[in-house]
Amino acid sequence: MIKIANYIDGDLVPPKSSLYMDDVNPATAEVFAQIPLSNQDDLKAAINSANKAFPMWSKMSVEKRANYLMKISSLIKENLDQLAQAESQDTGKPLQLARVVDIPRASANMEFFAHAITQFSSESHSGKNSINYTLRRPVGLVACISPWNLPLYLFTWKIAPALAAGNCVIAKPSEITPYTAYLFSRLCIEAGLPKGVLNILHGQGPEIGNTIVESENIKAVSFTGGTTTGRRIAEISAPLFRKVSLELGGKNPALVFADCDLDKAVEGLVRASFTNQGEICLCASRIYIEKSIYEQFKGKFIDKVKALKVGAPDEQSSKMGALVSAQHLDKVRRYIAIAKEEGGRLLCGEEPIELEEKYKHGYFLRPHVFENLPNTCRTNQEEIFGPLVSLNVFQGEEEALLLANDSEYGLASSIWTNDLSKANRIADQIETGIVWINCWMNRDLRTPFGGMKNSGLGREGGLEALRFFTEPKNVCIEF
Ligand code: NDP
Repeated sequence: MIKIANYIDGDLVPPKSSLYMDDVNPATAEVFAQIPLSNQDDLKAAINSANKAFPMWSKMSVEKRANYLMKISSLIKENLDQLAQAESQDTGKPLQLARVVDIPRASANMEFFAHAITQFSSESHSGKNSINYTLRRPVGLVACISPWNLPLYLFTWKIAPALAAGNCVIAKPSEITPYTAYLFSRLCIEAGLPKGVLNILHGQGPEIGNTIVESENIKAVSFTGGTTTGRRIAEISAPLFRKVSLELGGKNPALVFADCDLDKAVEGLVRASFTNQGEICLCASRIYIEKSIYEQFKGKFIDKVKALKVGAPDEQSSKMGALVSAQHLDKVRRYIAIAKEEGGRLLCGEEPIELEEKYKHGYFLRPHVFENLPNTCRTNQEEIFGPLVSLNVFQGEEEALLLANDSEYGLASSIWTNDLSKANRIADQIETGIVWINCWMNRDLRTPFGGMKNSGLGREGGLEALRFFTEPKNVCIEF
């Protein structure tokens, strides 16, 4: 049994409470690790250590800070196999996906922000009788709170810019998938990261997560997770006038026009719908197809979805693994029942999954595709975050936009057409923070990343993240 430890003041330590909870492998439903249940006392120790480290870390040259990040990035690459195995074991995702996406991206995050901080500059404004320049100083102690779907990928996406900009960090991974964050803390020790610069506390969101957010010592919170949790963090932070970056839920539309490259659209949208079992905030969940090609798209799409292999995460041929937890499987199953009650016609999803004995109790679910659902129904409006998508019909550009924008969310969208003028018109008017044209999840780490409406507040990525983690100060000199 693996015993996960907190990372405080440069050391791996047990929780002050001595209490632990189970970490379950979703593919086998077996407990494989124990997670510390951290509390206020652990946070106190982390804050003391971070406060001591801050003057040294914030004044260190950017080149030196960048070197630490580069070293950690290299160690992630060197430990690719172990980290990918751990990520797959903790989340249920295919090992191959963790090997080619999650872990390489975690390494890339560290490397990207190591480079970015050495290129980061601030503004200067010259006037008639004065010149102004802006200083950008680290904010201080910041919190980074991340979810379970892309554990190390999203954890490092926050920690890297925070550290690069000279802040000290208190980080909390999801209690559902803490294993790679623990392995990451061991790599930070190996890299010689000065003690107190990064502290990782494990435990439950409503307990230690909430305690971190309530602490007045925390000057900024970078959070990725559900909209309800994000709203609570915003409520706690508002009276403190504290910076928050909130990357929240989504209900992402895809618009497929009759003039698209159909095979490319089908291929792209199968990926967009079911990669990582549909557990990516950017996954397409409402697919709108122009009426004249609806039947053709549907036929090709369903054939490809039926061919997706759901199975053992460690099997190379598996395209989908297990959902992350029994609770999440129940939630998605409830939505399948709701979709049926709402009049949805199930096009695929109920075929049995063949699994060897070891995986018989795992949380596997086939990809489900529905049609014939009104846009206003719960299936088309609420975030499900699993392998369930709906196919819907539209006629013309105007209706496509109306349907896509009829949502409380506004994270990501994709547009499939060979008419670039039309694609640009829609990209301009669609209410999402990220728009992909004839592609999905093509990510350039320099671009602003985040959502509109209930999908969040602020942007991560590139310079946006470095701006978030620094406080601007204007200095004016009169000639
Ligand atoms: P949650 O909001 O439940 O949890 C996110 C993180 O917050 C976890 O570490 C959780 O800890 C912690 N947490 C929970 N409650 C509190 C609290 N009161 N105070 C502080 N921290 C808390 O989301 P999920 O983990 O279920 O993640 C899925 C959600 O994340 C989906 O809505 C998805 O759309 C969204 N997401 C958004 C992305 C984006 O970029 N916009 C990217 C990826 C996911 P614990 O798990 O231990 O309870």
